[in-house]
Amino acid sequence: MEKPIYPLKNMRITQGYEEGTHIDSFAVDDAGLDTEIESIYAPFTGTIKKIYTQDANEVWLESNKPVEYPDGTIDYMTILFAHANNIDDLYVGKQIKQKEIFYQEGTSGNATGNHCHIECGRGKYEEPGWIENNNGYYVIINGRAPEDCLWIDEDTNIIDNYGYQFRKLSEDIEKLESGPEEETTVDENNSTTEENQTIEENQPIEQEENIRLIYTCTKDDLYGIYLKEGEQVYIKKTISTKK
Ligand SMILES: [Zn+2]
Repeated sequence: MEKPIYPLKNMRITQGYEEGTHIDSFAVDDAGLDTEIESIYAPFTGTIKKIYTQDANEVWLESNKPVEYPDGTIDYMTILFAHANNIDDLYVGKQIKQKEIFYQEGTSGNATGNHCHIECGRGKYEEPGWIENNNGYYVIINGRAPEDCLWIDEDTNIIDNYGYQFRKLSEDIEKLESGPEEETTVDENNSTTEENQTIEENQPIEQEENIRLIYTCTKDDLYGIYLKEGEQVYIKKTISTKK
């Protein structure tokens, strides 16, 4: 399943949500590396659902499949971009692959200086794509905060995140690969007493009756595990008897 990626290589957010022209919305403006025009790539593999050329060349891209939000949500996502100067190569129904460059910063519509206006919405595209909010601005339907929708990857260069904490793709992968801390690792040379002390200090196994063996690993590999809220995972390292 795809994780939506922040659509600029250089994150330099110049206007946050809930302020100025973004009042009562989750829109952000990103001006990229500098005053030049920076490219925008698709955060996910999707389909262009709407193009509006009478204002700021707004384009709506809908994910082709559900995506994984940084907050754990699994759902479709629709994202709105605005201000590109020229979108002649785009059309409704066009397929865009994740991280494919398909849009540009610009100054079309109500914009001073090259930037891109970005709005994330949860779910599939819904007609007419946006609604007028209480302040007279048109905002994407089912808008969500960008940091709840978009991940940053190894290519993302954060110049100004405007205080929004985006989750890193690499952290998510590291967490999966390394599992919990190595608190139950058994050192063969340690005496029994020392082992027990280590366990007591970290207090990983207090209530033995609540621990159940669910799986014995038979080979080195990467595993995925479904956990219920509050459950904890311990790795018990067994000493191999193989010679
Ligand atoms: Zn804006």
